[in-house]
Amino acid sequence: MIQKQIKAAIRDIPDFPKPGIIFKDITPILKDAALCENIVNAFIEELGDTRIDAVAGVESRGFLFGLTLATKLGVPFIPVRKAGKLPHTVKQKVYELEYGTATIELHTDAFKPGAHILIHDDLLATGGTVMATSELIKDMGGVIAGFSFVVGLGFLKGREKISPICDKVIILAN
Ligand code: IMP
Repeated sequence: MIQKQIKAAIRDIPDFPKPGIIFKDITPILKDAALCENIVNAFIEELGDTRIDAVAGVESRGFLFGLTLATKLGVPFIPVRKAGKLPHTVKQKVYELEYGTATIELHTDAFKPGAHILIHDDLLATGGTVMATSELIKDMGGVIAGFSFVVGLGFLKGREKISPICDKVIILAN
């Protein structure tokens, strides 16, 4: 049901941001308040009684549902940002992209060691971004409680890459 609603709302944009890429544009979902509410409720249902002490959302579209989800769970939201965006002391992780590298950062006081963190992003592609996020969180003493995504591109096998880290992988639409 939710999978159908999400799939109907998402639009494919060919050749964005580069020729040959079909970009999944989730912005039409954001125009549908009832669907947004259903998405957050679906995450909460799938999480069940999983211990979550904070939700870490990946810049930038991971902020959209990440904050709402954290607020509804009654836990802190942690922004995972690209290099140079967070104002306080940070710890960073450099990770490989298809061409070159990318860097993500977290505030060093983002959470206390031992906290159970749910990593959230809008879309799971290869899994490289959330993999790097999980490594950074673990380096800082956090425990990965799970991963949640609105959409997954199944053919890129991201789930297979991240499930060894934590088998709680929620993908609402594949
Ligand atoms: P991954 O690291 O390969 O899993 O890529 C996932 C990251 O790239 C997420 O932060 C997504 O927001 C972004 N991303 C990759 N492809 C798309 C897309 O088609 N639509 C929206 N975001 C995408």
